[in-house]
Amino acid sequence: MITGKNYIGNKLSATGSVSHRTFNPKLNIENDCDFFEATLEEVEEAVELANKAFKEYRNISGAKRAEFLNAIADEILALGDELTQMYTSESGLPEGRANGERGRTVFQLRAFAELVSNEGWRENVIDTADAQREPAPKPDLRKTNIPLGPVVVFAASNFPLAFSTAGGDTASALAAGCPVIVKSHSMHAGTGELVASAIIKAAEKTGMPNGVFSNIAGSGRVVGAALVKHPNVKAVGFTGSIAGGRALFNLAAEREEPIPVFAEMGSINPVVVTPAAIAARATEIADTYAGSITMGTGQFCTNPGLILTIDGEDTRDFIKDLAEKTTAIAPQCMLHPNIKRDFVKNGASVSSQSGVEVVAAVSEEIEPNYAPTQISAVSGTDFLTNPKMHQEVFGPFSLVVRSKDEAELIEIIDSLEGQLTGTILAEESDYKNLGGVVDALQNRVGRIILNGVPTGVEVAPSMTHGGPYPASSDSRFSAVGINSIKRWVRPFSYQNWPNELLPDALKNENPDGIYRLVNSKQSNTNI
Ligand code: NAP
Repeated sequence: MITGKNYIGNKLSATGSVSHRTFNPKLNIENDCDFFEATLEEVEEAVELANKAFKEYRNISGAKRAEFLNAIADEILALGDELTQMYTSESGLPEGRANGERGRTVFQLRAFAELVSNEGWRENVIDTADAQREPAPKPDLRKTNIPLGPVVVFAASNFPLAFSTAGGDTASALAAGCPVIVKSHSMHAGTGELVASAIIKAAEKTGMPNGVFSNIAGSGRVVGAALVKHPNVKAVGFTGSIAGGRALFNLAAEREEPIPVFAEMGSINPVVVTPAAIAARATEIADTYAGSITMGTGQFCTNPGLILTIDGEDTRDFIKDLAEKTTAIAPQCMLHPNIKRDFVKNGASVSSQSGVEVVAAVSEEIEPNYAPTQISAVSGTDFLTNPKMHQEVFGPFSLVVRSKDEAELIEIIDSLEGQLTGTILAEESDYKNLGGVVDALQNRVGRIILNGVPTGVEVAPSMTHGGPYPASSDSRFSAVGINSIKRWVRPFSYQNWPNELLPDALKNENPDGIYRLVNSKQSNTNI
């Protein structure tokens, strides 16, 4: 049952008087629960509880944290249809997507549970002492990774489950041993409260300290900023706009003790299509990309927003076909009226720049929060001279650039801001000549795809979901996959520490038989 209250640790709380409602974009009406925004006193209480919980939680065994994460997954599944209905009513996304995203959320939680069920994930390193070393004896040094402290997670609008309350940021931070305070997304506060109730139930059932998790509603500029500025908060996870992510990054940097902000922000995910690929399979590419551009109403961070081609007659025919096929797909509902407003505004801003031609756009009367899909095109020279065309248009929109030759195409890639993905559509005959494009893309993106689509992010250890700024605020980390846990830990070394006082993962006898780097060699035996 939805209450509209915040979870301050295990307690439901609503001491403030400011409230908001979520919105059903399909029906174009407000949903009927009032969500009470947290007061600054409630923020303080949540952080204090998290700080206190950290002292206990950081020392709870990996096996117990795994039990907690698996229990969260079980409780989310136990929410059943109530969660699906809430999700669809607050996002306009279909039931199939809700259930798919729930599956991914549960999978992520269980993957982190498995990861931390032994201590191998901490990348333990042992360099044993050498008293005879000249000119000075070598000390015994043993390194592991330890949790940073309470983490604030900003839920993302476009993934109400998998990148929100119990999404990848929360799951990885809890797995690492960090308590989490979620700044709920105002557009799906009901979904957030249901998932938060599952986390609290799991925490109580598995005996986790009160404060290991809180869920807070409120404005980003007030509640979100207060959380990021709080001295007892030690890191931030964010998915959303460049403006929002950058504002929080700046706040964190201005603190007396600056803290890391792992923000995943805008990306237009360039796709390079070679002339040979157009000659061989223009129709197939147009079909596939019409689907990719409109998938999820284009509201994916990996949506292909920029298609780079080399000009020619075949290319012009391909662009026309792609535009017709993309705009022939029935318009779909967007997440919220504000996302639709920004989509229309940003699409118009790009398409009104000098030299840009709207190749095809949905022009018929559509439902209020549905997206008018649009494909525009421009020459490489115009694109290069006008950075306004490089901005993300979040929704079913792509700008196709016609470069005069490969050199100009590479210059365009070099001019782009950092991106999550880069894609190349090429024939085998192209492969030996792709070096320049591959090098340029590798310098600008976090993941490169050959003959596929950028939409669809596999949750796997080998996935990089990040990239140079502004795709993410720190390109050394991924926001997806088990390695995302590394965002919430720091290395810590023990020097000349008695064996019996070391954590099990660093003890000579290696009781759990985990792999460690011992004197520069991987080993899972005792010393
Ligand atoms: P958003 O506006 O960046 O908001 C995300 C969260 O950050 C919200 O909780 C918001 O609080 C908070 N926030 C925003 N600006 C802030 C500020 N200056 N100070 C403190 N907190 C702030 O993103 P959104 O609502 O999810 O979607 C809006 C746009 O973001 C989309 O149209 C799209 O362009 C972009 N987006 C990009 C991606 C991506 O992966 N590339 C994903 C989702 C969205 P409030 O609740 O007060 O707004």
